[in-house]
Amino acid sequence: MTSAERPAAARCSSCEAVCCRLMVVLQPEESIPDHLTTYSPKGYRVMKRGEDGWCVAMNSVQMNCGIYETRPAVCRRFVMNGPYCRAIREDYSRDAAKALQESAR
Ligand code: SF4
Ligand code: SF4
Repeated sequence: MTSAERPAAARCSSCEAVCCRLMVVLQPEESIPDHLTTYSPKGYRVMKRGEDGWCVAMNSVQMNCGIYETRPAVCRRFVMNGPYCRAIREDYSRDAAKALQESAR
C-alpha cells in the first residue's frame, strides 16, 4: 500500500467521537454522577447513552467529553488511532454511508 492509498491517521480533533457511542462499563470505585449512568441488561453499571447513541456526558456542541477530568478508566485507556479506534470508525463510516444511500432511494 502506498502512502497515497493509506487511510489518514484517526485524530480525535476531527472525529465525531465515535468511541463515545460504545458501551462504557464502570468500575465500582468510579464516582460518576448517577444521572449519567444506568445498568446494562447484564447488570453492569455503565455510562448512559442518549437517543442519538452518544454517551450523555458528551458535550454535543464541542463534541468532546463533558467530564474529561473524571472520565471513566475505560475511556482513559482508549487509544486514538489504535486498532479498535480505527475499526469502530470504519464501521461508523460504513453505516453512515449506507444510511445516506437508503435515504436517497
Ligand atoms: S479515540 Fe478514535 S474514535 Fe475516539 S474520538 Fe479519538 S479518533 Fe475518534
Ligand atoms: S465519559 Fe466522556 S470519554 Fe467516556 S464515553 Fe462518555 S463522553 Fe466519551
